[in-house]
Amino acid sequence: MIPGSFSYHRPATVADAVKLLADLGDEARALAGGHSLVPMMKLRLATPSHLIDLHGVTALKGIRREGNNIVIGAMATQHDLLGSKDIGQSLPILHETALLIADPQVRYRGTIGGNVANGDPGNDMPALMMTLGASYRLEGTSGTRDIAAAEFYQGAYFTALEPGEILTAISIPVAPAGHGYAYEKLKRKVGDYATAAAAVMLTMSGGKVATCAIGLTNLHETPLLAADAAKAVIGTGLDAASLKKAAQAAEAIMAPAADARGPVEYRKHVGGIMVTRALQRAAARAK
Ligand code: FAD
Repeated sequence: MIPGSFSYHRPATVADAVKLLADLGDEARALAGGHSLVPMMKLRLATPSHLIDLHGVTALKGIRREGNNIVIGAMATQHDLLGSKDIGQSLPILHETALLIADPQVRYRGTIGGNVANGDPGNDMPALMMTLGASYRLEGTSGTRDIAAAEFYQGAYFTALEPGEILTAISIPVAPAGHGYAYEKLKRKVGDYATAAAAVMLTMSGGKVATCAIGLTNLHETPLLAADAAKAVIGTGLDAASLKKAAQAAEAIMAPAADARGPVEYRKHVGGIMVTRALQRAAARAK
């Protein structure tokens, strides 16, 4: 499969990238790792006339600690995340999740910015970013704004990005010491997108869940925060009854597509199981 023809642009600054996107309008798309966009172009599901390659923009690279936040440049690859000691120490769930994305070849090239800006419900990072309380920095010709990951996703491939804007960085609050975490992903084979996946971040106190956030991947046209499921386990020791309540509350907000990964009821059922497993594994890790 060969993509249609396009003009290639390689700006060196965010301002130039944003200007190109604004000037070229609907016909232009930002190009990051290309591991979602290029397959879509090969299938002619995307036919941009201009590609704005972000690889020349050094300001979009790097991972740094800023106060109580980890700030990740949009062009950091999944491989870069795995190599970061800061992330390994303060947000180990990011390593766990990145390792479940595709295979090393995709992780060498695919970026976190592309993963979260893509708007594909199958991408793993968006639900995790919502679970972690992350915010996205967006830059356009009219300036810079920050938006919570939880407010960014509006529909399948439909996000809060305005025409001409790019996502420049992701800011994630460092998780509290002793927290428990888990990303559980059911997939048909290594390298596949999730049939269902759940992210859990929690803290325990005196054997009971003190705080909890749960995110869901590929169980709706957008990533989801399962707030009622999290509430169902707070104050409990994760006994069987509260785990069941949490799974039921999570299943109640799921609306997955019936596709090659299974019918709706199956995907909701395994979605509930991912929530249960992630809660149990996170609690076992909490100190
Ligand atoms: P690109 O493909 O370059 O861009 C994707 C979209 O985001 C485009 O619309 C582009 O214009 C836009 N975009 C990119 N960067 C920005 C930015 N900074 N600002 C604004 N818009 C931007 N992903 C998973 O999460 N889980 C998986 O299990 C998984 N499995 C995969 C298996 C295979 C075989 C392949 C090829 C890919 C898989 N992926 C998976 C997708 C992969 O993680 C992609 O790399 C990722 O979805 C997109 O990142 P990218 O850097 O490649 O972005």
